Amino acid sequence: MSDCLFCKMVAGEITPEVVYETDLVLAFRDINPRAPTHILLIPKKHIPTLADMTDEDTQLMGELMQAAKTVAEKEDLADSGYRTVFNCKQDAGQEVYHIHMHLLGGRRLQWPPG
Ligand code: AMP
Ligand code: ZN
Repeated sequence: MSDCLFCKMVAGEITPEVVYETDLVLAFRDINPRAPTHILLIPKKHIPTLADMTDEDTQLMGELMQAAKTVAEKEDLADSGYRTVFNCKQDAGQEVYHIHMHLLGGRRLQWPPG
């Protein structure tokens, strides 16, 4: 997807602050952090939203979850805890239509979200 911000990161046309990478997954710091640690994890494959995930993406999205666990450990959040979020479409306020998991930590987070 040539007009997708996160695909441009995967292609190396935009360079975020990468914290973790595998053949299939990229993790980088959010440019507008909502917590002391705020990282986005994306599959390198362009999938617009969670609602667009198919059966063939099951293993890929499992790897994304594993990556979140690894990144949380690297960021020293494994003991204190953290939140993972997928915003899906308008009502959740999704801005970038390339599926991504937010990983937030480093402070006590409110629940429920607004
Ligand atoms: P969402 O609202 O769930 O679609 O989240 C999109 C996230 O992407 C927001 O938290 C933005 O701050 C973040 N974002 C937008 N542009 C960039 C960028 N160039 N580098 C890193 N994060 C970005
Ligand atoms: Zn994309």
